[in-house]
Amino acid sequence: MRRTTRQINIGGLLLGGDTPVSVQSMTNTPTSDIAATVAQIHRLEAAGCDLVRVAVPDEEAAGVLSQIKEQIHIPLAADIHFDYRLALEAIKQDVDKLRLNPGNIRDPEKIKLIVDSAGERGIPIRIGVNAGSLDRGRYGEPTPDALVRSALDEIELLEARGFSDIVISLKCFDVPMTIEAYRLASQKVDYPLHLGITESGLLRQGTIRSAVGIGALLAEGIGDTLRVSLTAPPEEEIKVGLEILKSLNLREQGFTIISCPTCARCRVDLETVAREVESRLMKMGNLPPIKIAVMGCEVNGPGEAKDADVGIAGTKDGGMIFAAGEQLKRVPAANMVEELMAEICRFTKNKPQKT
Ligand code: SF4
Repeated sequence: MRRTTRQINIGGLLLGGDTPVSVQSMTNTPTSDIAATVAQIHRLEAAGCDLVRVAVPDEEAAGVLSQIKEQIHIPLAADIHFDYRLALEAIKQDVDKLRLNPGNIRDPEKIKLIVDSAGERGIPIRIGVNAGSLDRGRYGEPTPDALVRSALDEIELLEARGFSDIVISLKCFDVPMTIEAYRLASQKVDYPLHLGITESGLLRQGTIRSAVGIGALLAEGIGDTLRVSLTAPPEEEIKVGLEILKSLNLREQGFTIISCPTCARCRVDLETVAREVESRLMKMGNLPPIKIAVMGCEVNGPGEAKDADVGIAGTKDGGMIFAAGEQLKRVPAANMVEELMAEICRFTKNKPQKT
C-alpha cells in the first residue's frame, strides 16, 4: 500500500499523493554548454525521463538555465551547493525546482532568502541530505537518525517561512542505512520522498544496489520519485529506474523481455537471439506495454512464459511463435527473429522495421 504524501507541482509534474512514481536523472555535460546539455536532455526525454536536474556550479551555469528550459519538454531542477547567490539566480531564471544540500549552505539567513524567493515564484525545494556531507559537528557520524534529524531541522527552517513545497531525500552509499533512513522519515513527515542510493557505482553494481535499496522501499509503499545514480550515461539511469518500477508493477511502459536462463533442453543460441530482439526493439522507440518471450525450448517455454503477449521458443529446426501461451506457427531458424518482430509489429500496430 503506497504511503500517502502531500502532493506538489514541479513545473506541471505532480509529485506525491496518488501520482505515479516518477523517474529522474541528472545531466553530466557542462551546464553552461547549452547545446550539449539540451541534446543530452532530449536523449533523456526519449528514454522516458520525467524530470531533469542540472548542476549549477558557477554563475555561468546559473545564467543559462532559462535558455535550457526553453528548449526542453520536461521540468528542470537546479542543483545548488555552497553558494546561495546561485540559488537566487536559478530562481530568477525560473527553474521548476531547486535542490539544496543543507550540509553546505549552513547560514540560516541565506537559506531564508532562498526560501522566500522560491516561495514567491512557487518553486519547490528538495532538501537533499547526503551521508557524505552531513554536518558531523552537529549530527555526529551518519546514521539513519542523524540523516533524518538533519532533514527535519532544514524542514523546520522552511516551514517557519510558511514554505511547504518540499521534497526530501536522504541518500547514502550504504543500502541498509538508506532504507532505514527513508523508513524513519516516512513516519515523521508527509512530504514526498525522492529515493536514491548515492555513488552506487558502474552500471552493473549500481543497478543492483539501486534496485535493492529503491526496490525495497517502493515495495513498502515508500517513495514518490527516484533517481538511479550510475557511473554511466544518464540515459542508463532512466532505463534502470523504469525497470525497477516495472518490476514492481508500478509502471507499464514499453517492452519487457521474458527470457529463460537456458538449460540442457535449449535448442537455439538463445542469448544471441534475445540480444538481437532487444536491439531491434530499442530502435522502435516508444512502444505500448508489451511482454515478449524468448525461450529456449518448446517443451516448457510457452508454458513458462504464458504471461507474454508474443514469444518464440526454440525447436529442433528453428522456432515456434506463440502468443499468450498458444502456438501460432513454426518458423525456420534463419527467420526466427524476423518472424517474431513481424508478430510484435502486428501486436503493437507498428510498421515493421527495416534492418
Ligand atoms: Fe530450459 Fe526450456 Fe526452461 Fe529454457 S524454457 S530453461 S530451455 S526448460
